[in-house]
Amino acid sequence: MSRLHYIRPETLAEALDHLDRHGSRNRILAGGTDLVVDLRNGDARPEFILDVSRLHELKGIDVTPEGVSVGAGVTLSEIQSSDVLERHAPALRKCSFTFASRQVRNVATIGGNVAHCSPCGDTVPPLVIHEARAVLASRRGLREVLVEDIASGPYACSLPPDELILRFILKPAADVTFADFQKIGRRRELVIARINAAAMARQEPDGRLSFFRFSLGSCTPTPHRMPEVESCLDGRVPTAELVWEAGRLLAERTIAITGRRPSTIYKEAAIHGLLVRMLHPLVTS
Ligand SMILES: Cc1cc2nc3c(=O)[nH]c(=O)nc-3n(C[C@H](O)[C@H](O)[C@H](O)COP(=O)(O)OP(=O)(O)OC[C@H]3O[C@@H](n4cnc5c(N)ncnc54)[C@H](O)[C@@H]3O)c2cc1C
Repeated sequence: MSRLHYIRPETLAEALDHLDRHGSRNRILAGGTDLVVDLRNGDARPEFILDVSRLHELKGIDVTPEGVSVGAGVTLSEIQSSDVLERHAPALRKCSFTFASRQVRNVATIGGNVAHCSPCGDTVPPLVIHEARAVLASRRGLREVLVEDIASGPYACSLPPDELILRFILKPAADVTFADFQKIGRRRELVIARINAAAMARQEPDGRLSFFRFSLGSCTPTPHRMPEVESCLDGRVPTAELVWEAGRLLAERTIAITGRRPSTIYKEAAIHGLLVRMLHPLVTS
């Protein structure tokens, strides 16, 4: 049996050097709440584990000229207690309240959640509605990719093995009057989503939505925005009938992507109901 080498660099340069030399034989460890499970059940068999928890470049939540910056090593507990996110990305903060348990939230990171590429990752729909970009570092330099392009399929990460996610840059929710994250699972607590979704909107005094963003997770191979649903509501007054129609459209578009399966009989109604419930506070008549 080959030995597993554990490395915990103190500097980013050291980490990138290691990834440059051993990237394909290495796995990055942040909180370990996904990776340790993969190691235990044999889904990951690296020679090296690179623990990035000491790298200060992966920490912090700040407002910058580029947008709201959230370090890849920020934990779900830090997201939960962030005033900056409450102001500028409230749906992202809201997702942390139903994420796992307090013990898991204390170590689980946003970078690990995105890089694991689970279709059910709870931070992904909120990041996607903010058109979040991931800033990636390697010995070759820095580059940025849209968060929704990181997963090429369920649990399939498109990033090369020598790259590390440093942080995410979110477009701030300017003048947004509504933001929400909703999750449906098999039970109330400590639950992996069967359906999750994030939305944000700006509603004018006359009731019209002058801005509307929506992203669905868990139901499709990778979470992404639903442009048909966005354009059904954007610029219009969300009456009860219109929201009902948008829910029907969302279910229809989702099934067009996944095809009909045994679970469709439940999911079609649940997806429809989720959107209607989520947008209920916006309904004017
Ligand atoms: C009991 C339990 C409950 C859970 N509940 C939820 C839940 O409610 N919602 C949910 O979405 N998830 C849930 N999860 C899954 C998990 O906690 C999250 O996906 C978590 O955010 C992973 O972060 P981590 O820091 O632990 O990642 P790790 O396990 O350390 O890493 C996960 C993957 O990401 C890669 N990675 C980590 N950091 C980086 C980086 N900076 N750059 C590039 N690659 C990186 C690793 O190599 C690995 O492939 C749960 C897990 C458990 C065990």
